[in-house]
Amino acid sequence: MKKVIFVTGGAGFIGSALIRFLIKETDHEVINIDKLTYAGNLESLKLIENNPRYHFEHFDINEKNKIDSLFNKYEPDYVMHLAAESHVDRSIDSPIDFIQTNIVGTFSMIESSLSYYLNLGPRKKNSFRFHHISTDEVYGDLGENDLFTEETPYNPSSPYSASKAASDHIVRAWNRTFSLPTIITNCSNNYGPYHFPEKLIPLIILNALEGEKLPIYGDGSQVRDWLFVEDHARALYEVIEKGTIGETYNIGGFNEKTNLEVVCEICAVLEELAPKNKLALASNGDGFKSLIKYVKDRPGHDTRYAIDATKINKELAWYPKETFETGIRKTVQWYLDNVEWCVDIQKGKHARKRLGKI
Ligand code: NAD
Repeated sequence: MKKVIFVTGGAGFIGSALIRFLIKETDHEVINIDKLTYAGNLESLKLIENNPRYHFEHFDINEKNKIDSLFNKYEPDYVMHLAAESHVDRSIDSPIDFIQTNIVGTFSMIESSLSYYLNLGPRKKNSFRFHHISTDEVYGDLGENDLFTEETPYNPSSPYSASKAASDHIVRAWNRTFSLPTIITNCSNNYGPYHFPEKLIPLIILNALEGEKLPIYGDGSQVRDWLFVEDHARALYEVIEKGTIGETYNIGGFNEKTNLEVVCEICAVLEELAPKNKLALASNGDGFKSLIKYVKDRPGHDTRYAIDATKINKELAWYPKETFETGIRKTVQWYLDNVEWCVDIQKGKHARKRLGKI
């Protein structure tokens, strides 16, 4: 049945992938609620912006009265809440925005959702869902062999992960206390097209193409699990359609890599896809890898995150379509084909420098 879906943060990296998926693959109507911070970019929605089932509402999720009026205007069936400050280094520089958007903003969204939900008739009430999109970083640092499951205790390390952990607890409490039908997903690191160039993968691709240094924190041995963003978008849709109310689902790519492995893999793909670049042909045989530069580690840097995504696989039959090798190839090709998007998004916003006050 046709649904009306609120997507907060729909101009961001994952939100825009989710909206492109919803418009292309479903009949649902999508309302993108986004403040357009430095990380929000409507260019990422160019492919679907003229679709009559897509609407953009330029609001801060903290503007509760305005958000309430959007609930009255559109009467949504689902709220998919992605709006957040999402960059760990920025959270070290300036935690206040993370507290305001990730914690207070989530509280505000869930309060608006609850008052709307309580006034719904039985049919709409039955199908309403508040889906909170979160991160595996709430679980903190992992030993060498363990995996994060849905039962792993929270132990966040950075201001970013602490703010996301707080918002997860709020969402769970609103389900338990007020019976608001909520679902939470905690996902590993995403990568793919339209990723803001301050994050590791786009930063490495763009720096390499310009012959700039490829900065790696510490010795590059930190392990992350990588998920192609379009696989994440599909997982989110499976969860909101078929997931059980009150439950948490971990979403991961089954792709554990050290940061150094990720960078080397990008260099190898670039050498194949951009062979005319003189760095790819560097005579020492090291090609783009000769640009690698080890820089001072991020304070509080977790050494390993790895997701056990068995639950979503078994219960909702979701599995990523891309391996890291296929996904990174698509991603590098996308950046080679979309230089204009990269130039536009970086104008005045981010100079691809290491952030963080320490
Ligand atoms: P992003 O930084 O690319 O996008 C965030 C979006 O939220 C932007 O469009 C921004 O304008 C908007 N926004 C920020 N503050 C807002 C506010 N107060 N009101 C309205 N809009 C606001 O983030 P992303 O990487 O797309 O992540 C989306 C969500 O997924 C976040 O909640 C993040 O914690 C979570 N997540 C991200 C990853 C990842 O690897 N990127 C992994 C797991 C979970």
